[in-house]
Amino acid sequence: MRTPGTGAFCPSAAAPADRGRATLRSVSRLPAFFAALTLGGGAVVVAVTLLRAPAPAIASGGALVASPLPQLAPHAVPAADRIRTPIPRLEPKVDPVLAAREALESAIAWRPSRPLGSPNAGTLGDGVVLPREGVHFFTWDPFRWRTPSPASRRHGTDRLVRTVLGVVRAYARANPDAPRVGIGDLSRPEGGPFDARFGVVGEFGPARGYLGHVSHQNGLDVDVYYPRVDGAERAPDRLEDVDRVLAQQLVDLFVAAGAEFVFVGPRTGLTGPPGVVQPLARHDDHLHVRLPPG
Ligand SMILES: [Zn+2]
Repeated sequence: MRTPGTGAFCPSAAAPADRGRATLRSVSRLPAFFAALTLGGGAVVVAVTLLRAPAPAIASGGALVASPLPQLAPHAVPAADRIRTPIPRLEPKVDPVLAAREALESAIAWRPSRPLGSPNAGTLGDGVVLPREGVHFFTWDPFRWRTPSPASRRHGTDRLVRTVLGVVRAYARANPDAPRVGIGDLSRPEGGPFDARFGVVGEFGPARGYLGHVSHQNGLDVDVYYPRVDGAERAPDRLEDVDRVLAQQLVDLFVAAGAEFVFVGPRTGLTGPPGVVQPLARHDDHLHVRLPPG
């Protein structure tokens, strides 16, 4: 039996159906389709809209076979609906303190230097200035007993400055948790006498009374403070402050780097090759390295 008024929706789908049962009169593959249902003697028209839903299967006779609506998995959010969250850029972390120390080392004005005369009576030609601090060292002013040391006390031959940088770098590699190494006096800008006229230099502080350097005149000498057991970046204030294990490593590294002499404090117990590592009075807070002239 044909239901009047509904065949216009889809003429080809018109088919009779039993009374009392839902009868599909029109099906379309368009995004929207309308189904007319006839219940008993009355007709109810229901408009159903499905967006992008596949057409339901139609059994022979035009009956609608129930097919479940497609369901999206909970995580399958259409791309257009996703909230666009910018992906944070992974910038390399820059430590400004470390960068400043690296910059100081990079700015060293290297040039071939000339150690003239002897360490006790000489001068320095074309010296190189050790920076006031670096990645693995700080400088210590033995006259004012503070860091940093003024540039006027930090001149050496290019070879001496390279040796210092190489040793402190090797020391830091072997002791990554150790504090930086304290570097004391090298030579004056053009070498020459470095005695009490340039500040009274003492052991464990100027108050102990010591009139300055006899040597340190031609860019081949450098004082290096023993590391402290408390890890502070300052010179030892007394013998008990000295970390003798780390201090011995510094002695060994300077010997390996070609030092002609390494003078150490008589009370420190530091040792090394006889003739190279020698105990010397007033060196219980620092070691003194001298490079050979050649
Ligand atoms: Zn010295």
